[in-house]
Amino acid sequence: MPETISSSGLAQLWQSALPQLAESVGHAACDSFLRSAQVLEFDGETLLLGVANEFARDWLREKHLPAISSCLSELVEKPVRVEMQVVEHQANQPMPQTVHTAPATPVATGFGSVPLNPKYTFENFVVADCNRFAHAAGQQVSKSPGKSYNPFFIHSKVGLGKTHLLQAIGHAVVEHNPNLQVVYISAESFVNQLIGSIRDNRTAQFRRRYRNVDVWLVDDVQFIAAIKGPASEEEFFHTFNTLYETNKQVVIASDAPPRHLQLMNDRLRSRLEMGIVADLRCPDVETRIAILDKKAQSEGLDLPREILTYIAEKIESNIRVLEGALLKVCAQISLTNEQPTLSAVEELISDYSTAAAPRSVSVRDIAEYVADQMDCPLEDMLGPKRNQEIVWPRQVAIYLCRELTNNSLANIGDFFGGRDHSTILHGYNKVSELLETDEEVLWLINDLKSGLQA
Ligand code: ADP
Ligand code: MG
Repeated sequence: MPETISSSGLAQLWQSALPQLAESVGHAACDSFLRSAQVLEFDGETLLLGVANEFARDWLREKHLPAISSCLSELVEKPVRVEMQVVEHQANQPMPQTVHTAPATPVATGFGSVPLNPKYTFENFVVADCNRFAHAAGQQVSKSPGKSYNPFFIHSKVGLGKTHLLQAIGHAVVEHNPNLQVVYISAESFVNQLIGSIRDNRTAQFRRRYRNVDVWLVDDVQFIAAIKGPASEEEFFHTFNTLYETNKQVVIASDAPPRHLQLMNDRLRSRLEMGIVADLRCPDVETRIAILDKKAQSEGLDLPREILTYIAEKIESNIRVLEGALLKVCAQISLTNEQPTLSAVEELISDYSTAAAPRSVSVRDIAEYVADQMDCPLEDMLGPKRNQEIVWPRQVAIYLCRELTNNSLANIGDFFGGRDHSTILHGYNKVSELLETDEEVLWLINDLKSGLQA
């Protein structure tokens, strides 16, 4: 007799699949089509998924069926065939009461990597000032894993390309060397697998699995810090150490730089800080247009420039939301079979808006922060002294003031003890030049910027 699973069990199954689905089909498609879907039936082999409309059904069928089915198969530890059906008014639809299925508790028990999203490659990653450093370091890591930048730590706000970059490294490693074992996993899945392995007395297998990888890509590591479970953090730390000490590459993505992670283990934090830390920032409007253009092309759509520009101007601070808006426009085109007008697009995406909060860092914030980080008294930084221990932090602060605020040279000069604009420009140029040639300066500036903008 097959066991039965309640409708809440089906909903739970779907909920536990969503994080992995988001990783493997991409967050934009997941947010647009999968989050609102529901499991209508599951007999242990075939799973019937209810989706919102025909476009979602066709889109998912055409592009993501293998990924969805492989995520679900991994979750229930047996092959799952996925079928889709349009469900009209989902919210009011009664859920079926019970259906037959094999597993009673649909929680992930399989260990291992989520398949990489084939779209998250370096080729599909638009490089611009907001991500140049992280991209270059990522490429370097993928060429010589474990040898150059280890660990490599990427951080940014949500939707700015961490997962994409992490997976691009994974693709490139495999391309250069198909024999290397690459594992991509979100910290959340890692913890779920750990909990499952403790429950099933399989911790030894769990450890073996993770301690045998060549390149370990861990996404959203802030999760480890947030759950405050000593066991998870310890297990993570041990896995990290084992890999690190045997010169295996570890790449970590997080929503905050290492020193802002609420970790209990100080050694873990300092190890994370020891490698190279790179951030991803909001792309400017030209970059956003380039990203949309690339995305539209990869979907086989040729959208007029004014429409791309409109979307790019409207959505500033999150590339995932930007793509969500594009998908919505694509959906409209496929339903009506004609190019939408600009006003139709305006209407269509009127509820999207993520205009970035105005950059709140001031010249004073920068000077105070740099003085503190570089151990230079603020009064000296703003005063007349000209010895090198003072001049260098001052130049760094000046550079950051030009980069991060809209103040004129004269304004910055006024703040820095009434220096004239040519002195300010000289300081700025000095740092800019060193940035080109001196890696330590690059790291320093990168780190200070992240700290100021976090
Ligand atoms: P995060 O992990 O930081 O939340 P993601 O990696 O999921 O962000 O990126 C969100 C979406 O934006 C993805 O679909 C990704 O392909 C796209 N994206 C981010 N950065 C770029 C870029 N530089 N070029 C092209 N697409 C990008
Ligand atoms: Mg991500």
